[in-house]
Order: sequence, then structure tokens, then C-alpha cells
Amino acid sequence: MSSVNRHPSVHPMTNRQLFLSHIAQTSPSPIAIEMVKAQGIKMWDADGKEYIDLIAGFSVANIGHSHPKVIDAVKEQVEKYMHLIVYGEFIETPQVSYAKLLTDHLPKTLNSVYFTNSGAEATEGAMKLAKRVTGRSKIIAFNKAYHGSTQGALSVMGDEYWRNSFRPLLPDVYHLDYGSDEAIETIDSDTACVIVETVQAESGVNKPSREWLASLRKQCDKHCNLLIFDEIQAGFGRTGSLWAFEQFNVVPDILLLGKALGGGMPLGAFIADKKLMKTLSNNPVLGHITTFGGHPVSCAAGKAALEVLLESGWIAEVKYKEKLFIQYLKHEKIKAVRSAGLWLAVEFESFEFCKAVIDKCIEKGVITDWFLFAPNCLRIAPPLTIKEEEIKHVCNIIVSSLEEMTVKRNSIST
Ligand code: PLP
Repeated sequence: MSSVNRHPSVHPMTNRQLFLSHIAQTSPSPIAIEMVKAQGIKMWDADGKEYIDLIAGFSVANIGHSHPKVIDAVKEQVEKYMHLIVYGEFIETPQVSYAKLLTDHLPKTLNSVYFTNSGAEATEGAMKLAKRVTGRSKIIAFNKAYHGSTQGALSVMGDEYWRNSFRPLLPDVYHLDYGSDEAIETIDSDTACVIVETVQAESGVNKPSREWLASLRKQCDKHCNLLIFDEIQAGFGRTGSLWAFEQFNVVPDILLLGKALGGGMPLGAFIADKKLMKTLSNNPVLGHITTFGGHPVSCAAGKAALEVLLESGWIAEVKYKEKLFIQYLKHEKIKAVRSAGLWLAVEFESFEFCKAVIDKCIEKGVITDWFLFAPNCLRIAPPLTIKEEEIKHVCNIIVSSLEEMTVKRNSIST
């Protein structure tokens, strides 16, 4: 210790300065608001300013922030035990009962849950499972897909700009256009798996056709490879049904869950048939290992959140609320609105314009953002609990921001 040259700062730093100095940043322009409280669809910053959360922490807070039943479940579990041992050794009731609740609400072939720390780890586990089951290495993925930021997940991410600096990545990965016939034709007997988002998120909310997803399923069946659906953003009622795949009538071999899965706590999962999952217990044994995956507190929180969601009736209101957003979001600057339930991408002419709208909305107390592969699109993915009058209010704020920007631009150009 004595050889470590420490430089404690002489002048006390503000939290903002500490954030910028000591929290590793990968964003050149973080929002950097210090929130001190979040409840339902609202957040409050250190100055007491109120915000409406229009993105639900990127589709995590589907039942709103700090639901009392989730808080009680967390407290109850913390008082019993937190971490005990690496994943899958002891019987931990929060994991077992959450896996039971999840599989009770899934098709019967999706009956075995491997809980992970995150969505990216769920992607990693699923790709390993597909390789182990099929003995093959070829993976088919899609342009503009996002499955996580670790190196395996990055290999199947569908944008070269984001991948390029981290090569070499996984070999034998092929990226095709989402919705293309070419993708179906590329699936062959060398293919281990096809990994696809049921509704593509970061391209700015794109729904596939039912026929296309059905063709993927058919081709995977023909060549005995595994179909993986990533519902890390699309799951838990976001699109108007508990799982997005229900609306397409196609069941995957492996389902990826994350985000809302933990009810605000970190949790991911890959879910498959026990017959497939069993292969991870031999040749080699411990085919996937995680210390904190399926943390008991995360599982207790996630189970409480899912129970609230199932009892609430909010999912049944999603399509109606989606229509309200579409009805209210009318302005000459809006080029298109794409949506899948309470998940909308509002398209503008450029990233610069979209960013200016986002900044204006935040200034007016509405938290929103853009999409990774569609930076000209504004993200709307509020807690499913959002009320009709709140939808009207936030749409007014977006449209009035557009109005102010249009007036300002016109006055600059005259
Ligand atoms: N898959 C999708 C569709 C996602 O949106 C995300 C995260 O944004 C992930 C996977 C990765 O999840 P995580 O950030 O928990 O690793």
C-alpha cells in the first residue's frame, strides 16, 4: 500500500464532478442528471424537479418504479439470505418459485430456466447451448440486431461500426437482413442456431411478418438447428401480450429474457426444454457457470413484479394506449411512427434534430432517448402503468417541443 501514490482531492467535488471523474464513461454525452427518487412513472432529481419516465429504464420498469410489492419481496429476501453459493448448487426457493411461475406461463417446451446476471449473459449461454446441442458452429444473426455487449453477444450484433474495433470476434457468424428471404435460404445443416429478436428493438421498433417468422421456424425444423428468440426488450407485456411471440404463433427453442425479468434488479435468463438444457451438464460438466446469476434477491423481486403484472390487467390495455400515442403524435416534423404495443419509434429527419427534441423534452421534464441503430428516432417505452391523461400530457410536450423548434428554425432562416 505504501508504494501507492495517492492523490486525494483537496477541494470537495460535486457529485457531477465525481461522476465524470470516477465513473467510467463510454458515452461522450451522458444525461448526467442526479435522480434521487423514482416511483411509478415518475422520477425526481436532486433539485426536486419532477420527470416522467418515458423509457422505463430501457424497458425494465414495465410495472413502474419501486412497486411496493417488489420492495416488500426484496426486503423479505434480504432478511433471509442474499448470496449463498455459485449458481445451481443449493436449492434456493426464490429461484425455484420464479422458474415455476415463468414456465407456467410459457409453452410446454420452454420448461427449464437458466438464470443469468444480464441479457448479454443469457445470449452467451443460449449460443453455447445451441453449439453443444447441435455440435455445429454456424450462427445466423441479423443486421441491426442487438443482443448485448460482451464479445459473443457483440459477434451477433448487426452493425459493423460497433463490432469493428473489437475483432477478432466469433467466427462463422452470418448477418442477414431482418425479414429477408435470403436469411431463410442461408439456414442449412451446418447451422447451430438462428438468433433473432421477435420484434427488432434498436433498429427503431420493427415487427417481422408472421409468415417470415413461421418460415424461420420451418427451416430450423428442417435442418435441426435451434431457433432463439430474444425478448429481452420485447417481453413482459411490452408489445401487448406477455410474450411477443404469442402474437406470431411461433415458439422458439430457446427464449432470452432480461430487463423487466428482474423487476428492477439485475437478472437475465435463457429458457429451453430440459432435454436440451441437460447437455450443459456433461462433456463438459458445468457447461455454463455463473456466481451471481439468479441472485435470490433478484429472483424474489422479479417474481413479485411478474405477479403484479399478471394480476393488473395492464397488458390488456397496451394496444389501446399504443393507439392513443399514435393519435396524439401528429406534427409535420414527424416522418413516421413505428410501434409494437407501448413501444414506439418516432422518426425525424436526422439524429441532430432528434437529439434536440430529446434535450427539449428532458428540459420540460420528460425522459426519452434515441435508438442505437436508428439515432434519428425518439424512443417511447413507458411503464405499462401510464394513464390516458399522462399519455396526452407527454405527447403535448413532444409536439410543443417540435413546434418551438420549428418556429425557432423558421425565425433563424428568415
Ligand atoms: N437483447 C436486447 C434486445 C437488448 O435490448 C439488450 C439490452 O439492451 C440485450 C440483449 C442485452 O441485455 P443486457 O444489457 O442486460 O446485457
